[in-house]
Formats: sequence, C-alpha cells, structure tokens
Amino acid sequence: MANNEESRGLKSLFDWFANRRKSGPTSLERQEREIADGLWHKCSKCSVLAYTKDLKANQMVCIECGHHNRVDSDERIRQLIDNNTWKPLDEHLRPTDPLEFRDRKLYSDRLRETQDKIGLIDAVHTGLGQINALPIALGVMDFRFMGGSMGSVVGEKLTRMIEQATQRRYPVVIICTSGGARMQEGMLSLMQMAKISAALQRHKDARLLYIPVLTNPTTGGVTASFAMLGDIILAEPKATIGFAGRRVIEQTLREKLPENFQTAEDLLQHGFVDDIVPRTQLKNTLTQLIALHQPVLTPPHMVLWETMSLTSTAAE
Ligand SMILES: [Zn+2]
Repeated sequence: MANNEESRGLKSLFDWFANRRKSGPTSLERQEREIADGLWHKCSKCSVLAYTKDLKANQMVCIECGHHNRVDSDERIRQLIDNNTWKPLDEHLRPTDPLEFRDRKLYSDRLRETQDKIGLIDAVHTGLGQINALPIALGVMDFRFMGGSMGSVVGEKLTRMIEQATQRRYPVVIICTSGGARMQEGMLSLMQMAKISAALQRHKDARLLYIPVLTNPTTGGVTASFAMLGDIILAEPKATIGFAGRRVIEQTLREKLPENFQTAEDLLQHGFVDDIVPRTQLKNTLTQLIALHQPVLTPPHMVLWETMSLTSTAAE
C-alpha cells in the first residue's frame, strides 16, 4: 500500500516535470523576460512588480511604497511641460575631449559609447515651454549620461538657457541630478560652476524666479553651485543631496554619521531645502509658485487710477 502510494507520488512528480516541460516557459521565466522587455518594472525599494504603463501613469512613483524610481530626461519633460509647447535649445552642442583624457578608457570612446547607448549627446536637456500655460525655461539633467556629470556642454547649455530666460523674462526651473563635475574635463568642468552661477545672478538681478528641483542624487559641483542658488529650492522625497560622499566625510571626521544624513528630509529640517514635493504634485506646485511670482504688468488704466487717487490724497 505504502509502496503503491510512493510510486504514485513519484509518477505524479514525473508527470509534473513532463507537463512543465511541455507547457513552455514558466510564469517566472516569462516574468523575467517581460521585465527585460520593459513591460514590467521591479521597484528597487520594495521589489513589487508593476506594469510599466501603470507606473508611468503614476510618474514612476511606486504605487505600493511611494518610492521615487529614476526618471529619464525625456520622460521628465513629458511630465512637466504642456503637450506641443516644448522647444529644445542648443541641441547642436557636442562634447569634445580637449585634454585627451584617459582613465580605464579614452574619454572620447566613453562619450561615443554612452551617446550610442542612450541616444543623448550629453547629460542635460534645455528648452523653453509652457507649464499649465505659463512660459518657463527648463533644464533637465539625465543621470544615465555619465552619472549626470557636469562637463562643458552641460554648463554651456544651462548658461545659454538662463540667458534666454533673462532676455524673455521667463522663470527658470532646473531638475538636478548629478554625481558632480566631470573629472574627464578637469578644470574646464569646474569652470562651469562659476559660469552658470554668474548667469543666474544676472537672472536674479532682473528680478526673475529660479527654482531648482533636487532629485536623487544631487551631489558634488552641482550642489556646490546652481542646485543651491534657487529663490525657492524644492526636493523629491528621500533624495540624496550632498557635496562629498558619506564615506569620505566619515573617514575625515572619524565619526559615524546619522542614518538620514544627506537626505532631502534632513536638509529640509536644517533649512537648506524649502520644501519636499512628491513627483506627482510637482507640476502643480511649480505652476502655483510661478503664477505667484509672475511679473506684475500694470495696465494703463490702473496707472491713471493710481495717479488720480494719489492726487486726491495730496489735495486732501
Ligand atoms: Zn516600491
């Protein structure tokens, strides 16, 4: 009896394997293939699988845990700018290799490979567009391009965009994400910090609004320049924001740093950031801030009315 049951059990196990072979790829294999195809997305925080389409509809914010998954620059522009209003600027600017720099690879090879792989010329998109019908100049950095590092092209494109904004009296918004200056361009990369900051100062002198949005991660020379020069500085939840890395600071101070060190929440508490805005509310928040800071154009009849009331006050 026991033998019979055992052999039945064995037989059914064989059947199960046979059926499994016949039924083709398992749901797990299929799932892995679909992840590779980009149909599904696994949250890097809670590992929950979500349909990429659903996740994109929620602006790549995990529906389960609220984790802000990384967004590329094209998707960011779609999220923020009204349809058919985006006009890219200076798309022809290409990086060069003036120092003929070589680390493990030649910088020129590294550039070409990255450009071919992700279809971008450098690590920033700049342009003019409308956000809920209000005009803005928008710069969006892309972490996929050499860690969003700031080389000459990033610096030049942002500077030209800020100058355009000053001329047209547009507010500037920059979505920051960067590992810092691009070491392969040495000093030329560091000079971009001063160049962008100078353009922002002229924008500020013209009494115009600049809002940087710090996303995960914003570090190094970008934090040390335009990311922290905003009139209002916004950040995404849980974004890492800092200058030097945690390990370097810990080794220098010989102290263990707190868990939330260099997070958006910690920076908000210490007054470096003005607000933390979830990505799903970013477009509306930016619109409200920009609408509040629209330059007041005094209509002619108002001027007349003001002059009259001043005169009448004076007469009294
Ligand atoms: Zn999640």
